[in-house]
Amino acid sequence: MDDIKAIDSQYVMHTYARFDLLIESGKGAVCRDDKGKEYIDFTSGIGVNCLGWCDDDWAAAVAKQAATLSHTSNLFYTRPCALLARKLCERTGYAKVFFGNSGAEANEGAIKLARKYSFDKYGEGRSKVVTLVNSFHGRTISTLSATGQDGYHKWFFPFTGGFAYVAAGDLDALERELDDACALIVEFVQGEGGVVALDRDFAIKAYEMCKSRDVLFIADEVQTGMGRTGALLASELYGVKPDVTTLAKGLGGGLPIGAVLADKAVADTLGAGMHGSTFGGNPVVAAGANVVMDKLTDELLADVRRKGDLIRARLDGADGVASVSGLGMMVGILPTHKKAADIAREAIAGGLLVLTAKDRVRLLPPLTIDDDTLAAGMDILIRILRG
Ligand SMILES: *Cc1c(COP(=O)(O)O)cnc(C)c1O
Repeated sequence: MDDIKAIDSQYVMHTYARFDLLIESGKGAVCRDDKGKEYIDFTSGIGVNCLGWCDDDWAAAVAKQAATLSHTSNLFYTRPCALLARKLCERTGYAKVFFGNSGAEANEGAIKLARKYSFDKYGEGRSKVVTLVNSFHGRTISTLSATGQDGYHKWFFPFTGGFAYVAAGDLDALERELDDACALIVEFVQGEGGVVALDRDFAIKAYEMCKSRDVLFIADEVQTGMGRTGALLASELYGVKPDVTTLAKGLGGGLPIGAVLADKAVADTLGAGMHGSTFGGNPVVAAGANVVMDKLTDELLADVRRKGDLIRARLDGADGVASVSGLGMMVGILPTHKKAADIAREAIAGGLLVLTAKDRVRLLPPLTIDDDTLAAGMDILIRILRG
């Protein structure tokens, strides 16, 4: 038998510090490695597999679409793409959507839209995009520029200009930076930044500040979107309606997709030839995303809130837990004495997959995980946190 880990190490660029685990198959919230050992999943492939692995309806829709019409280019209409766009807009109240392949690509599209919107209305001089310190917006040159963490602003010079960073909560700094800005981008819960929820008061004031200046308020919901926080979009929990919302991770349920949702006033900013993506809205991917949309019912969202509360109740006052952050089924755990990375490695040995974000353990379980599997995973985690 070929040693897959050795082949991967030899031929795939070492841009990921992989765990020592080869996953062969998965169903729901449980997967198996090459030796048949089972693992409970609290990662969802970093917030992607919101329905768990290989949901029957999702897999059937994807397989059927792959055998019917796999790819056409965006020069033609296709059914799954149009139906997905309508579902997304009807559910979220947005007017139009642009489809790409990833979170970074969605954010690139949102930045382009904001700069063009401002240029169309006010001419030059308002191209600046303000983001928050400790944010994460992607790995392309421009979305690295948008990412408000110095650690990402190395090696790849020159970065795209025209970005400024403001600490969450600093309304004075925000007011100064918004003067010549076209957009503010926020994550309602900073995911990669350590599962840090935005203060509600700051979010609302920042939103009002943007509105009064006609600066676009862009919500990067690549990680928080698609039910993760217990609402379809986290913006609902904050009571604001961003001009633009970007989605990716959970939207495809396991296939690559990104989306830029735009409000009526800005939805026609990008015209024919101004933006595009070869695979954007691909029928197979869209067929899977349509199933995700259909399954993210109000009942499931209520269940996400309930299970998020269950997780928090188990962690509350547990040995080895300094604090718990996040919203819904997006959970950050600051350990008291262990390193998050060590906990993640120990968890694998114990049959559980968890993520880390900065110094926190990060949980993004499949939204559909059943109570017994969730409880079994929490048992493993609580034992490791304590030990
Ligand atoms: C993951 C993530 C991105 C980048 O998404 P990719 O699909 O990896 O390009 C952007 N923003 C946020 C908030 C994310 O969590």
